[in-house]
Amino acid sequence: MKLIYEKSVAGRRAVRAPRRTVPGRELIQKRLLRARPAELPEVPEIEVVRHFTNLSRLNFSVDTQFYPLGSCTMKYNPKACEVVAQHPGFVGIHPLWPQLRGGGQLTQGALRLLYETERLLAELAGMAEFTLQPLAGAHGELTGAMLIAAYHRDRGNTKKHILIPDSAHGTNPASAALAGFQVVAAPSTAQGTVDVEKLKGFINAETAGMMMTNPNTLGLFEPDVRRIADLIHAVDGLMYYDGANFNAIMGRCKPAEMGFDVCHLNPHKSFASPHGGGGPGAGPVGVVERLRPFLPISRVVKTRDGTFSLDYDYPKSIGYVAPFYGNFGVLVRTYAYLLLLGREGLRAVSDHAVLNANYVLSKLKDIFPAVSDHCMHECVLSAKSLVAGGVRAMDIAKGLIDRGFHPPTVYFPLIVPEAMMIEPTETETRETLDAFIQAMRELAQTARANPAALHAAPVTTTVGRLDEVAAARNMDLAFKEKKSE
Ligand SMILES: *Cc1c(COP(=O)(O)O)cnc(C)c1O
Repeated sequence: MKLIYEKSVAGRRAVRAPRRTVPGRELIQKRLLRARPAELPEVPEIEVVRHFTNLSRLNFSVDTQFYPLGSCTMKYNPKACEVVAQHPGFVGIHPLWPQLRGGGQLTQGALRLLYETERLLAELAGMAEFTLQPLAGAHGELTGAMLIAAYHRDRGNTKKHILIPDSAHGTNPASAALAGFQVVAAPSTAQGTVDVEKLKGFINAETAGMMMTNPNTLGLFEPDVRRIADLIHAVDGLMYYDGANFNAIMGRCKPAEMGFDVCHLNPHKSFASPHGGGGPGAGPVGVVERLRPFLPISRVVKTRDGTFSLDYDYPKSIGYVAPFYGNFGVLVRTYAYLLLLGREGLRAVSDHAVLNANYVLSKLKDIFPAVSDHCMHECVLSAKSLVAGGVRAMDIAKGLIDRGFHPPTVYFPLIVPEAMMIEPTETETRETLDAFIQAMRELAQTARANPAALHAAPVTTTVGRLDEVAAARNMDLAFKEKKSE
């Protein structure tokens, strides 16, 4: 495909900007002014439309294909939520307005939305209060770890380490370390859940807390979570809940009831906001009553006369963790989604997410061994039986692309050899799941009959198989004109 710069012909135009009528050029320092016109592609409108439409068609997306990328919850985003997010009243406001004199009146709707979203999340997670500021799950983890540190500092505790299961997502240890804690890995049993007996050996007076994902990254519910919480609380440690897998339990079970004190949720996973491609996300963090004083500012409060305003008067707060109120547009979609589904709807979501994952698991576990006979919202299968024939999980993943499916997450969790982590999400039809299962079974056959065919995959994409290490280390993202000799 030609780049738009390569389609440029001098003098061609899509639109002509109107002549500038506002003064201002004289206010800009001379050295900052452009000396030559910008080198923009010169193309007519139809070429621009075709260019970007064709580019968009090179993409894999939930709107075009099945996207069972485990742990990421790439679920369908109802278009109704997009309509709400595009409302001119939400799109057109400036984040400083609520803080300006009289601005509070202009932004009552937005503040109310933030306030009510916060209340809904607190209800769903069983927490006393949420901050909506963090901009992603990982950012929520960091905020949570900072809240844990603030709690211990306030009590004069000298705590050093945070316990994290060896099955955890890589952001967990990274967040704990950034907040100043040492990370101690908690071993899993052969079944893939936290080994409570071994864990006891790691818990001591220096334990600041424990971070857990439940269901964990193997798609298994941690049955001992309450016992673990009791052990951690006994040394005045705090329990952190990584809510990335909330889609499995929402409406059924609350992190606070499992014994957690701090949790983040991922609206771009559980609450149907666009996800991936570097788009904005959010990572609201909820806490139990005794951690409330430490939550970030500003906070949206409801005053006695029923209006909404910002409050900054929390002397123990860890301060701002992001500008203003977080990614407002993502929070609008979250609010719309929560109201669209309601209590019963959210519960139906987690029921169907779990049902779909178990359907896939039951139809594939005979050829791809699974870590367990049952799972929550995702299943982890292994491609290890194909390794002797020269085919790895990565080859199966690439083969799926040629069949029109996004690959599952591969090689994670690290404790499962040749792991393939499949998360179908709740909205997929039985026909889609059957087509995926069929493709996986055919790929296993191809792996045995003709491994070379799988090593060549993908062959249907614009770019074939990448050297993933080189692609990450030597990124080449800038346009360079190819000079004709
Ligand atoms: C996605 C994910 C995270 C990180 O969330 P981001 O929003 O991507 O920063 C953390 N833990 C688990 C288990 C995840 O799946």
